[in-house]
Amino acid sequence: TVMNLVEFPLLNQKTPNSIISTTSNDLSNWSRLSSLWPLLYGTSCCFIEFASLIGSRFDFDRYGLVPRSSPRQADLIFTAGTVTMKMAPSLVRLYEQMPEPKYVIAMGACTITGGCSGTVSYSTVRGVDKFIPVDVYLPGCPPKPEAIIDAITKLRKKISRKIFQSKRSVSSYELVNQAGFL
Ligand code: SF4
Repeated sequence: TVMNLVEFPLLNQKTPNSIISTTSNDLSNWSRLSSLWPLLYGTSCCFIEFASLIGSRFDFDRYGLVPRSSPRQADLIFTAGTVTMKMAPSLVRLYEQMPEPKYVIAMGACTITGGCSGTVSYSTVRGVDKFIPVDVYLPGCPPKPEAIIDAITKLRKKISRKIFQSKRSVSSYELVNQAGFL
């Protein structure tokens, strides 16, 4: 009422938009970091360590992680294992099929750099970050399950700080058409 507005002038002031949007961002980020659904993607030995997380010993369900078999139901991908040149377009395609917001953890030396001396070759991709945006790098050969949990914790912290922007990967079409790649 007019009386109230006179007595309490603060009631007449608009709530700044930033307060509402900040609160809604915090709420969105909290729900995102509490329900990450990773895509089951493994190409070699690193995936064995990732699979052990699903069991009761490490129990990664407590973070709200529910493994998915379809990229359309996943918002997190661990690139667990060697990625070859021929597999790279498929990886990019899987990433593109995941709904936004989506996150990538590059797991193991093979996906971060192409691999150690025993695994790197002319046919391996020297870092998946050339094709998809990586949020957390998880080094090791292979990284232990405890290290994977540490990487998940780092990703959850990044999500809570809202430092993510809209990201774009190289499309599989562009990738295939890069001269000399395939
Ligand atoms: Fe296998 Fe080591 Fe490569 Fe992981 S980083 S895929 S354990 S060789």
